[in-house]
Amino acid sequence: MTNLLYDAFFAPLKGRDRAFLILPDGSEISGTAFLDMVHRVANALVAAGVRPGDRIAVQINKSPMALAIYGGAVAAGAIFLPLNTAYTAAEIDYFVGNATPKLVLADGARAEALAPVAQAQGAVLMVVNADGSGSFADLVAAQSDSFAAVARGPEDLAAFLYTSGTTGRSKGAMLTHQNLLSNAEVLTAEWQFTDKDVLLHALPIFHTHGLFVATNISLLAGGAMIFLPGLNMDDMIRLMPRATSMMGVPTFYTRLLDDPRFTADLTAHMRLFVSGSAPLLTETHVQFEERTGHRILERYGMTETNMNTSNPYAGDRRAGTVGLPLPGVEVVVTDPTTGDALPQGEVGMIEVRGPNVFKGYWQMPEKTREELRDTGFFITGDLGQFDADGYLSIVGRQKDLIITGGFNVYPKEVELILDDQPGVLESAVVGVPHPDFGEAVLGVIVAEPGQSPDLAAIDAVLRESLARFKQPKALELVEMLPRNTMGKVQKNELRAIFGDKFAS
Ligand code: AMP
Repeated sequence: MTNLLYDAFFAPLKGRDRAFLILPDGSEISGTAFLDMVHRVANALVAAGVRPGDRIAVQINKSPMALAIYGGAVAAGAIFLPLNTAYTAAEIDYFVGNATPKLVLADGARAEALAPVAQAQGAVLMVVNADGSGSFADLVAAQSDSFAAVARGPEDLAAFLYTSGTTGRSKGAMLTHQNLLSNAEVLTAEWQFTDKDVLLHALPIFHTHGLFVATNISLLAGGAMIFLPGLNMDDMIRLMPRATSMMGVPTFYTRLLDDPRFTADLTAHMRLFVSGSAPLLTETHVQFEERTGHRILERYGMTETNMNTSNPYAGDRRAGTVGLPLPGVEVVVTDPTTGDALPQGEVGMIEVRGPNVFKGYWQMPEKTREELRDTGFFITGDLGQFDADGYLSIVGRQKDLIITGGFNVYPKEVELILDDQPGVLESAVVGVPHPDFGEAVLGVIVAEPGQSPDLAAIDAVLRESLARFKQPKALELVEMLPRNTMGKVQKNELRAIFGDKFAS
C-alpha cells in the first residue's frame, strides 16, 4: 500500500538512530523514536474514531508531540488542520463549524473554553499538553508503536490550512499529498538540503512556513531540526553553532541583528538563511550581509500554493526580489481586470500554476471559482513585476491584507469590532511600517458627532476578542476618513499620514 507523504517523509525515519529533533535542553529524539510516536498517534486517532478523510483540528503549543500528530494524521489518512495558538474560542468556533472535524485537540489550558465549541459541532475534544499529559496524550501512550499507513494517492487531501482568522472570510485551503510532496521535492533540491542538515526551527508549526516548508524539507532530506518552542534569542544564539541552516520571517532577522552576540563568528559555519512570509527589507538584507557575510535567500509563497519562487542557491540572490519561479511552477503577471498576460516589466496580478497549487477552498465553491481559473492558474492577490532577468518583485497586495510578524490580519475583522464600540462612527484599519514586525496594525477611528470614545476601553475590548497579533498597536482619532469619489476609503492616504508612527 502506498501513502505518498508517509512513504516520502516518515517511513525513512525507520531504524534511524541519529537525532531527528534536537530540543532546547540539548536532548534528542531519534528518527526511530519519532516514528514510533507517529505510529502511536495514528493508532490513537483510529481509537478516537477518526477515519480516513476525517478532519482533525489541532490548536496546541509547538512540541515534538504536536509534530507527531501531523505525522499520525498523514499515516491514518486523516486531514490535518493546524490552528494558530493565538486564536480565541470565538475564532475557533468558526473553523470548527466550517471544517466539521471529527476530533479537536487542544492544550489543557484551552480545553474549558473550547469544550462548548467542539460539542456544538459534534466533535470530540481531547487534551494534549506540551509536557506530555492530557487525555489524548494518555491515549497515545497506551498504543502500539506499529501502524500500517492507510493508502493515500496524489489527489487525496492531506491538510487544510486556513488563510486567516476572519469569520466569514477565512478560507480552508485544501492541500493534497501531491501539493505538499511536489513542493518539498523541489525545495529540497533547489536549496540543496541533505541528511547532513540541521535546521534551526523557531517558526510556529500551524503555518505553511514552519510546518510544510521547514519540516517537510527536513523530513524528505533526512535532516534534523533544532526544534524551539518559539523565537527566543538566547536559545537561537546558544544553539546556532549546532545548526547548518535556518528559516525565518523577516522579524527573525531584524531581531538577530539587534543582538550584539549575533556575529560573523557565530554564523561562519552556517550554509543557508532563508526568509519569507513577508517582505524582507533591502536594508535588512544588506545589514545581514555586512554583519555575517551571508546573503539571505528570500522566497515567496502562500498558504494556497506553498512556495512559488525563490532566489537561487548558487546564483545571484537579489535583495528586494523574491527570485525566480521554482522548477515546475509557472508564474505569470496579468492585467488584474482582464486577466491577460502583461509584458515583462509591467506591474500586475501574480498568478501561479503547478503541482503545488491547492485544490480549492473547502466548501466555498464560489470563492474557489473567483481565485482559481479553469486553466489551473491561481490568482494570488499579490501584485508584482518581473525584471529583465526573470526575477520577481512583489510590489504590494491587492487586497488590504496586513502582514505583521509574518501573520496575516484582514483589516475588516478589526474594523467591525471598532465600529461597534460606543462613540465610534466608523473606522479603518491599516498596516504601517514597523521596524520589528514589518507592519503593525493601526486602528483609525472617527468619533460620532459630539462624542469622545474611550480609547483605553476600546483597547481592552480588542484584547479580549482578538488574537494578540491582530490587535492594533495603536489607535488614532481623526476628524474624517479620506475617501475617493466612489466613496471608498483611501487607505493609501492613511498609510502615508501614519507611516512614521513606529519609525525607529
Ligand atoms: P500566507 O498565506 O500566510 O503564507 O501569506 C501569503 C502572503 O504573504 C503572500 O500572498 C504575500 O502577500 C506574502 N508574502 C509571502 N512571502 C513574501 C515575500 N518574500 N515577500 C513579500 N510578501 C510575501
